Amino acid sequence: MSATIIDGKAIAARVRAAVASEVEAFTREHGRPPGLATVLVGDDPASAVYVGGKQRACAEVGMVPFDRRLPADASFDQVADELDRLNVDRAVSGVLLQLPVPEHLDGPALTALISPDKDVDGLTPVNAGLLSLGKPGLRPATPLGVMEMLGEVGVELEGAEAVVVGRSNLFGKPMAQLLLAQNATVTVCHSRTRDLREVCSRAEVLIVAVGRARMVQRDFVRPGAVVIDVGMNRLTPEEAGNKSGLVGDVDFAATVEVASAITPVPGGVGPMTIALLLRNTLQAARYQAHVDAQLADIDEDLL
Ligand code: NAP
Repeated sequence: MSATIIDGKAIAARVRAAVASEVEAFTREHGRPPGLATVLVGDDPASAVYVGGKQRACAEVGMVPFDRRLPADASFDQVADELDRLNVDRAVSGVLLQLPVPEHLDGPALTALISPDKDVDGLTPVNAGLLSLGKPGLRPATPLGVMEMLGEVGVELEGAEAVVVGRSNLFGKPMAQLLLAQNATVTVCHSRTRDLREVCSRAEVLIVAVGRARMVQRDFVRPGAVVIDVGMNRLTPEEAGNKSGLVGDVDFAATVEVASAITPVPGGVGPMTIALLLRNTLQAARYQAHVDAQLADIDEDLL
């Protein structure tokens, strides 16, 4: 048996097309499109590429991109002031601080300054708390993208054994919370997990986000499992066996015969992240429009 390859590019393209048509409707209704602001501190080339991709994707679905750049030696207060300006700018629906920030800055402390209703990365303490309480809020885009993929392949999560490898605030923890909210039985593994292979081999849904090339081998995978590979590791094209040099945390060639469905790298989870970031921005714009309408009603009542 060979696994179904979950085509992240195709699913992401469908999400983006749906967002584009909803952005058109939003713009007609409210007289202005949603806006997404990215804040990049320093000139790390990989971060600049990610920000460029987000800016382009935003324009492609009819949203307004705001590209804010600060020098690598910007102080905490300078970055905080930029975030404050974006927080109060009514043309800006979503704000994201590109991580990692230079070492002298405290990334989590800066992220926490983003207004929770514009926090389209879902990383502020308020949105992380809402997720853990099971309340509505903005969720991190990559785990949302994984949920979208699991939906596409029709995985029944209720009661399923799900294993998430990696416990970062950016991915592993919110991923586990989203799975729990769908009534999966969730195990979260990390660098201190004893016998990772044995724990993974129990999973009906195995999601790996570690950052170690091809760590997950064939005997980690239960026959028939759905395997989602979030890892992005850069090797030489020769080592990777592809032009991009990108490989995941799962040894694709070794596991594709065992799994029932699997994401490739590249072309799997990667394209989903930006698509779900765009959907989050639309969600944020709708929420803000709803609050504005309520405030306008209150003003009218007072007059
Ligand atoms: P991270 O913050 O470095 O977290 C890595 C996690 O892996 C940690 O929880 C760590 O455990 C765990 N770990 C490390 N070595 C391990 C081992 N030998 N066995 C089991 N667990 C181990 O990384 P991240 O931000 O979550 O990202 C992880 C990977 O996903 C990276 O390759 C990243 O590029 C990729 N990623 C991709 C996207 C996308 O859009 N496709 C988005 C986000 C992340 P401890 O907590 O014990 O240290």
